[in-house]
Amino acid sequence: MADVTASGTVLVDNIGELVTNDPSTGEGPLGIVRDAAVLVVDGVVTWVGARGAAPDADAAVVDAGGRAVLPGFVDSHGHLAFAGDRAEEFAARMSGQPYTAGGIASTVRATRAASDAELEANVVRLVAEARRQGTTTVECKSGYGLSVADEARSLVVASSHVDETTYLGAHVVPAEYADRRDEYVALVAGEMLDACAPHAGWVDVFCDRGAFDVDEAREVLAAGISRGLRPRIHANQLEAGGGVRLAVELGAASADHCTHLSDADVDALAGSGTVATLLPGAEFSTRSPYPDARRLLDAGITVALAADCNPGSSYTTSIPFCIAVAVREMRMTPSEAVWSATLGGARALRRDDVGHLGVGARGDLLVLDAPSHLHLAYRPGVPLVSAVYRRGLRAA
Ligand SMILES: [Zn+2]
Repeated sequence: MADVTASGTVLVDNIGELVTNDPSTGEGPLGIVRDAAVLVVDGVVTWVGARGAAPDADAAVVDAGGRAVLPGFVDSHGHLAFAGDRAEEFAARMSGQPYTAGGIASTVRATRAASDAELEANVVRLVAEARRQGTTTVECKSGYGLSVADEARSLVVASSHVDETTYLGAHVVPAEYADRRDEYVALVAGEMLDACAPHAGWVDVFCDRGAFDVDEAREVLAAGISRGLRPRIHANQLEAGGGVRLAVELGAASADHCTHLSDADVDALAGSGTVATLLPGAEFSTRSPYPDARRLLDAGITVALAADCNPGSSYTTSIPFCIAVAVREMRMTPSEAVWSATLGGARALRRDDVGHLGVGARGDLLVLDAPSHLHLAYRPGVPLVSAVYRRGLRAA
């Protein structure tokens, strides 16, 4: 396969199965076009059509060899700005210890001790790792600094390497505030927010047992909203608390995890514009019951799939892994899982330029070493992503 020029102009031809996620372009919800080609000019999709029928353009030509081409994955939930790892904690959990939110403290210590260069190197490494597996849009949260300076620098470091940044000062209460929760919440909603808001587009809270309760989460999210940040939330991972309903109350773009949901939570999501973002890597890595995607889909709720890359509860950047687990364990069809990891992720980030390959979309696509998107779930653990283009440029 030819490399492309630096212009972001490329014609991908001889595609056996093209997933556009644009039902007006192709068949079904995935907008599938067979024997297709897609033209990207200056980083933007300008034409989709039949193989060999592309309009003239001064484009590098890539022969997909009859294989499948999909939109790049949109990973709407990641925690990449950290130092250290917690392999020993994972091993202990696999030998029977339960997961709690408190293990985050060890990553906070390592993150605070790391230099800016070390933090940045970790973000760069993980973004590159994600790219190789087909991810072309990355969201990254702070949340391992938990001081004014360390939260702000986490966002500064991340912001030049990812598409979306999220302020998560309310990840857990750090040890030095253990007896002064109210003071920490006030800091997160005040001075820390002031330092972080210029470097973030979103505000998030870990609203769950062992982290922040609904009233604390509402205070932090409202403060972020008042500073121009858009809300999203970690909700209902560990128990069926009030996080999901708070997300709906505040018009959050996404409620993430959604593992333990009451009927009222499902009803609230169904009547809202809030996406349910499911993170099966977390249940996998904590040996916990998976969320029931089928229940959400059958209620008409928009579902996204994301990797939740973090060193404690889901140290994976692999969206193909998440798709396979979602199909096997969460009662999603392969097509639903692919949609949720592409356009679903875009919906969770309120973006219309990524997650699909309709005309006007960003030229983000991946070539699978397989004839169909079905193979992502059908062939779990196999590195099928053979080429990745971002804005029409070869990215992996
Ligand atoms: Zn998370």
